[in-house]
Amino acid sequence: MKIIRDVHKLQQVCLDLRSQGLKIALVPTMGCFHEGHLSLMRWARQNCDQLIVSLFVNPTQFAPHEDLAAYPRDLERDKDLAQKEGVDILFTPGTEDLYLPGHSTWVEVPDLARNLCGASRPTHFRGVATIVCKLFNLTLPHVAVFGQKDWQQLTIIKRMVRDLNLPIDVVGRPIVREPDGLAMSSRNTYLSLTERKQACFIYKGLLMAQTMVKDTHEQAETIKRALKEFYQKNIPAGRIDYIELVHPEQLTPVSLIDQPTLLAVAIFLGKARLIDNILLRGKG
Ligand code: AMP
Repeated sequence: MKIIRDVHKLQQVCLDLRSQGLKIALVPTMGCFHEGHLSLMRWARQNCDQLIVSLFVNPTQFAPHEDLAAYPRDLERDKDLAQKEGVDILFTPGTEDLYLPGHSTWVEVPDLARNLCGASRPTHFRGVATIVCKLFNLTLPHVAVFGQKDWQQLTIIKRMVRDLNLPIDVVGRPIVREPDGLAMSSRNTYLSLTERKQACFIYKGLLMAQTMVKDTHEQAETIKRALKEFYQKNIPAGRIDYIELVHPEQLTPVSLIDQPTLLAVAIFLGKARLIDNILLRGKG
């Protein structure tokens, strides 16, 4: 496995790989790998010739009051895990390598970035779209792999690729969960024991909603009300950021669940803000 920090070297290596006709996959990450990250790498490893993983805690997607400084980092462990997954190139740039003084170009997909996580993190997706676009330009991948855990992010990247005619296949992969259902996240390390015990109810609530939809409660408001009560009862240490039912691609609110609908939630729990989602298929 090559570890490359230099932006120009990476771009040159990737240009060479492309000219050899190799199929390149990129898995963008912020490191502190868990099984969720590794599942993306495994898929990419099996479906492409060259696997590039970027490891960069991108400051522009954090608001000043958020957890940029505290975000967990463990480069040595990440190197070992990446090596074991057969990663060809681990790209580990510094902030100063990617954001030169006077950086002032941004990629925005405002229609998809307003609601859900965008409502409480108004500059987050601008930072995400910009860094992912930069990573695409540096690595020139044929395929880029993202987790469905960050559904809004995945949707925004797909739209960006479509709107900017980028020749990249964006692949979304399923959420990897702990045995009790909690979606794996680097931020789960922030949770105290009590908070961790309550956190598993986030997914249990989503499953409850899925059952309700099957049992003919099809109004979004009914689901939201029931889920709010469920969370208040079972996650007393938490504070709900949002519970939303939206069209899976447009991310616009849905009132009647008679077609595939994304149920997405975000909950503040201790120092963490945890997100999760489930695709409700409705009856249509
Ligand atoms: P992050 O390092 O949190 O920026 O995540 C890097 C990539 O891993 C993103 O595409 C995430 O959606 C994906 N990811 C994070 N957690 C999970 C998970 N539990 N299951 C599947 N993919 C995940």
